[in-house]
Amino acid sequence: MSLKIFCGNPQAQFKSYRQEILDAVARVCENGPYVLGPEVEAFESEFAAYHNVKHCIGVGSGTDALALTMRAFEIGAGDEVITVSHTALATAAAIVMTGATPVLVDIEENYYTIDPSKIEEAITSKTKAIIPVHLYGQPCNMDAIMAIAKKHNLVVIEDCAQAHGAIYKNSKVGTIGDAGCFSFYPTKNLGAIGDGGGVVTNNTLINDRLKRIRQYGWDQSRVSQEPGVVSRLDELQAAILRIKLRYLDADNLKRQELARQYKNLLGNGNLLLPAERSNCQHVYHLYVVCSNDRDVLKGKLSQQGAEAGIHYTHPVHMHPGYMDKIRVSSGGLSVTEKIIRKILTLPMYPELDLSVFTNLKEVLNV
Ligand SMILES: *Cc1c(COP(=O)(O)O)cnc(C)c1O
Repeated sequence: MSLKIFCGNPQAQFKSYRQEILDAVARVCENGPYVLGPEVEAFESEFAAYHNVKHCIGVGSGTDALALTMRAFEIGAGDEVITVSHTALATAAAIVMTGATPVLVDIEENYYTIDPSKIEEAITSKTKAIIPVHLYGQPCNMDAIMAIAKKHNLVVIEDCAQAHGAIYKNSKVGTIGDAGCFSFYPTKNLGAIGDGGGVVTNNTLINDRLKRIRQYGWDQSRVSQEPGVVSRLDELQAAILRIKLRYLDADNLKRQELARQYKNLLGNGNLLLPAERSNCQHVYHLYVVCSNDRDVLKGKLSQQGAEAGIHYTHPVHMHPGYMDKIRVSSGGLSVTEKIIRKILTLPMYPELDLSVFTNLKEVLNV
C-alpha cells in the first residue's frame, strides 16, 4: 500500500508556500540580524493586531511562553496553578519549571476541555492561577472560568498552543484571560520551521516584564533589572511566521471543511465525533474521535496507509517524571482516565485530500 496519509503534515504546508518562504529566508540570511530584529518586531505587531490586543512577545517555545508568563505574574515556588491532566505534558512542565505545583482537574466529556464545575473544589489559599487549555482547537468555557477567577482573584493564562485563531463567542482565544500563550511548533495551526512561541496580552506591565525576562532581565540599555533566561524568537522563524499568519484563517477554514467532510462520511457510524461548543469556532488542530475499538481502528487505518495518533496516551498525572510534582484535585480524574482508552486522532491538516482515501467509511465503521 503506497498511500500514506499522515496525522499531521507540516511539509505539505511548506510546499504550499514554498517560494514565499524561501524568499523570506534569503532576505533574513542576506541582511541579518538573525535574532530579535525587525522580523520579530513586525511579527509581534502583526500577531497582536490579529488578536486586537496591545502586545505580543516572541519567545523560544510554547512551553517558555507559559512558564515566563507565570513568572511575569510572580508565580513560583509554593504556589499552585490549576489546569487539566488531559493536555500536552508541556502545560504541566511549564508550571513545574516555575517551581509551582500543577493541580489537575477533570474535563468535560463532550468537549475534552477543563470542567469549570470542578475548579472551585481545587482552589486553596496557595492557588494563584488557572490555565485553561483550548485542547484540539476547541475553546474552553471561558465565561464560567473567568467568573471563578474573578471571585477568587486568580490570574487566567490561556494555553492556546492548539487553537490559533479559534473564537469563543466574539473573542479570539488568548484575549479573554490575562494573557494567551501560543506555540509555533511546526505541526501547530500556525507553525514555524523550528521552535517558537508567543504571548499576547493587553497588560503593559506583563509585556514589559516578559520582554526583559526573555533575555537575562535586560532593559533597553542591556542592564539587567531582574534575573531572566534566554528564550528568544529568531528572525528566520519570525519571517516564516509572518507569511503563514496571512494564511492562518484560510487554513483554519480548510480544517473546518475537512471536519465537515469527516462528519458526512462518519456521522452515522459507531464513532463519537467531535462536538463544537455553541457560539464558538473550533479550529481542529486535531480531529479526535472516540471508539471502544480504538486500537483495532488504529491498526486498520495503518494497514490502509493512514496514520492515526493518540493525543494523549498518558495524562499528566500518569507520567512517572511528573507524578511527584503534581497534585490531583479531590474531585478526581474519572473522565480523563476513561477517555484516554478511547480517543483516536484522525489525519488533519489543511492540505489533506480526503477523497484519495476511498474506503475510509468502510474502514472506520466497524
Ligand atoms: C505544543 C503545546 C505546548 C508547548 O509548545 P512547545 O512549543 O512545544 O513548547 C503547550 N501546550 C499545549 C496544549 C501544546 O499542544
